[in-house]
Amino acid sequence: MIPLAPSIQEKSLAKPIFSRAIISAVAMFKCHVCGSMDSRRELVSEIFQIDGKPVLVENIPAQVCARRGEEIFSRETTEKVRLIAHGKKKPIKSVQMDVFAYA
Ligand SMILES: [Zn+2]
Repeated sequence: MIPLAPSIQEKSLAKPIFSRAIISAVAMFKCHVCGSMDSRRELVSEIFQIDGKPVLVENIPAQVCARRGEEIFSRETTEKVRLIAHGKKKPIKSVQMDVFAYA
């Protein structure tokens, strides 16, 4: 979805909940990182750290920056994801994950 270079840092595998994605309170899209006004609606999958444990949430509706791929979630979506990730819903499946240290 996002080209590997030069923006490899954009898609870290695990991150604190919504550290990168900003809640968009306004209807008009404007990317908070690059200022682009162009976006597309997409369903995205994100891994969040909940109490130190990685949790994958699939099919989250997001506005995605057309230029660099930053994902922006609405306030409503953010709240729903927070509830889901904190255990309001049963997971559809569990997977085992290999973890590597780069250095
Ligand atoms: Zn952008």
